[in-house]
Amino acid sequence: MVEICWLGQGGFLVAAKKKRILIDPYISDCVFKKQNLARLHPFPVKLEELSPDLLLITHDHMDHFDPEGIPELLAAYPDCRCAASPRAAEHFRRLGVKEENLTECRIGEYFETSSFRITAVPAFHSDPAACGFLIEVEKKRIVITGDTLFDEGLFVPELNNADLLLICINGKLGNMNDSEALEYVKRTMPRCALPMHIGLFAENTADPQPFTDGCRKLNINSFALTPGKWFNL
Ligand SMILES: [Zn+2]
Repeated sequence: MVEICWLGQGGFLVAAKKKRILIDPYISDCVFKKQNLARLHPFPVKLEELSPDLLLITHDHMDHFDPEGIPELLAAYPDCRCAASPRAAEHFRRLGVKEENLTECRIGEYFETSSFRITAVPAFHSDPAACGFLIEVEKKRIVITGDTLFDEGLFVPELNNADLLLICINGKLGNMNDSEALEYVKRTMPRCALPMHIGLFAENTADPQPFTDGCRKLNINSFALTPGKWFNL
């Protein structure tokens, strides 16, 4: 069984085969300190309950590579592996993560860890090194877009017919909006598509319902996520 928990914004925990991948966790309140954008909800899981085996980062922006939360996490879990797109990998190096514990993810390339196979897929964002990920485990295929605009270059064949698509819909600051996200869904036809990168900042959110309704009209399972609540794939 593959279990997934939304952590708010673009953050997720993916658990399978007794291993956990932690993706883009925004734990602290550093965006408030820098840009005066306050969290609408706290980080939903206690640090001591995260237990990640791999920390996977799509790009080096504060709401994905949390400059306060990630050092805390690395201190709490010194054996956790790290993998990230090139700029975020550089950030890990600046924090002292050793090369043997770090995978730099380049678009089109994959790496394997435990029973997971992880492929970096294209993204088009203001961190030009940003990527999304295709995560394969237990014969399930999960796509997380990361932060990206809608672009023809997104549509690589390995993204088609995923079991689960986690897709940004906020439509601001370099991300696609809900109708572009629906177009992405129509083009790739996942079994289930869930909207993300919403609900954390009042200034940068979107109503998930037009997207979830649009997916259901295509006979694709979709619902609004709740931070901290697990679901099975
Ligand atoms: Zn973001």
